[in-house]
Amino acid sequence: ADVRQLLLSRIRDVSDYPKPGVMFKDITPLLADPAAFTALTGALAGLCAEHGATKVVGLEARGFILAAPVAVRAGLGFIPVRKAGKLPGATLSQAYELEYGTAEVEIHAEDLGRDDRVMVIDDVLATGGTAEASLGLIRRAGAEVAGVAILMELGFLGGRARLGPALDGAPLEAL
Ligand code: IMP
Repeated sequence: ADVRQLLLSRIRDVSDYPKPGVMFKDITPLLADPAAFTALTGALAGLCAEHGATKVVGLEARGFILAAPVAVRAGLGFIPVRKAGKLPGATLSQAYELEYGTAEVEIHAEDLGRDDRVMVIDDVLATGGTAEASLGLIRRAGAEVAGVAILMELGFLGGRARLGPALDGAPLEAL
C-alpha cells in the first residue's frame, strides 16, 4: 500500500494532451525520483519471479524505460516490441485497431523460443490494443505468456476486458 501511494504521488495528470479532452498520465516525475523508480522496478521484477518469467518484453517506448531495468534486476533477458519498420532482423508483425485507423508492432522472432515464459511490461494499459497485439506476437513466436505487468490501468477504457481472451488465463497485474 505504501508503494502504491508513492507511485501514485509521482504520476502527473496533464489535461488536453496529446489532444483536447484527453487526460494524459505522465510518468516522468516518477522516473526522476530514484526512490519511486527503484520501488517500481523492484515490484515489477518481483512479479516476474512470482509468475516464473524467463524473458521480459517491453513495449515501445515508455515500456522500454521500465522493462530494461526490470530485466536486469530479475536476471532475465529483455526483448523489445517495436513499432513497425524499426527492427533490422526477421520479424513477426501484428496489426491492431486504434480509435482511428490501425497500428502495427513487431518482434524479432529468433529472440523467443518454446521454453520461454514472457512477462509483458508497459507503463499504462489504455484500450489494451498494444498489449493484445504483443501477446499475439509472443504466442506466434512459440513462447508462453507469463503475464502482463503494468504500472497503471485506465479502467474506464476497458483494456482488461479486451485483453481477456489473449491472456488466456495468464495474470494482468496493475500496480
Ligand atoms: P492502448 O493500446 O490503448 O492500451 O494504449 C497503450 C499505449 O499507449 C501504451 O504503450 C502507453 O504507453 C500509451 N498510453 C496511453 N495512454 C497513456 C497515458 O495516459 N499516459 C502514458 N501513456 C499512455
